[in-house]
Amino acid sequence: MKNNNNLRHDWTKEELLAIYNKPLMQLVYEAATVHRAWHKADEIQISTLLSVKTGGCPEDCSYCGQAARYHTDIQVQALLPTETVLAHAQKAKDNGSSRFCMAAAWREVRDNRDFDRIIDMVKGVNELGLEVCCTLGMLTESQALRLQEAGLYAYNHNLDTSEEFYDEIISTRKFDNRIETIKNVRKAGITVCSGGIIGLGEKPTDRISMLMTLANMEKHPESVPINALARVAGTPLEHLPKIDTWEMVRMIATARIVLPSSMVRLSAGRIEMSEEEQAWCFMAGANSIFTGERQTLLVTPNPGVDEDMTMLKNLGLKPMKKEVNTSCSMS
Ligand code: SF4
Repeated sequence: MKNNNNLRHDWTKEELLAIYNKPLMQLVYEAATVHRAWHKADEIQISTLLSVKTGGCPEDCSYCGQAARYHTDIQVQALLPTETVLAHAQKAKDNGSSRFCMAAAWREVRDNRDFDRIIDMVKGVNELGLEVCCTLGMLTESQALRLQEAGLYAYNHNLDTSEEFYDEIISTRKFDNRIETIKNVRKAGITVCSGGIIGLGEKPTDRISMLMTLANMEKHPESVPINALARVAGTPLEHLPKIDTWEMVRMIATARIVLPSSMVRLSAGRIEMSEEEQAWCFMAGANSIFTGERQTLLVTPNPGVDEDMTMLKNLGLKPMKKEVNTSCSMS
């Protein structure tokens, strides 16, 4: 396995675009080669994502069914009790997950009782021996430190899309706010999970720009989720077309080549992909998937755990055991 001294942080848009636009077979071959140099290619990390507080979010992310301002079918749910969350975490572990991510539909973390309860959840999941991740919105440096002290392993804060396209998708915060939170997470010594969504109406150059921001960070995010837009009825983007699978494969392959040590997570959108389409994504370097209980990923449909296990078996892949704190771990 290669080490982090081989990583580049000075990619240009032209270089990334040239990679992204390579003939597909060549692109996948190169990404698969990088994947094998940095990772065990027969292992897929299973991460479980649980919504611990659902809906009612004041933000206006135009892809999200949890934004209070959109009329979706999603039921608002207050912060779950700690015991309930820990029971879900235990079940996830029993089902083969090595990472457990807790998501709250908040704009930002506030220093209140709910945050105290999140801290208890982090401690509890950590004690179960799972990598524990949270995605809670914007975070200050002191809040990040509190989470780190409680045992938080990773914090998810996606860039969502390119800096250039950002204002088309979200108006209630700025791209720079995302970068600021990621910096606070880094300062606290928590690993970073940050990626984005394709199929929002962006151009390939936006995808490249987003990847360039990630690849040129001083330290690459340990985890890079690549999501296909889940078109939620009632949101402004509900009528956009399904993203083409080859676009997804190109995005994953390019991410694998420029972020070789990172876990590249095939995230939202799998429900609309066949086993064969997902296999292409794994060949292109994706080495993690998300599962959610009741066949949901937060609030959108997702394949069930049994279905995923059958797929992995069919493809000769196996669930990754919990990682030691290496450069290639994970929102
Ligand atoms: S993506 Fe997150 S921040 Fe944006 S509306 Fe949904 S829950 Fe709120």
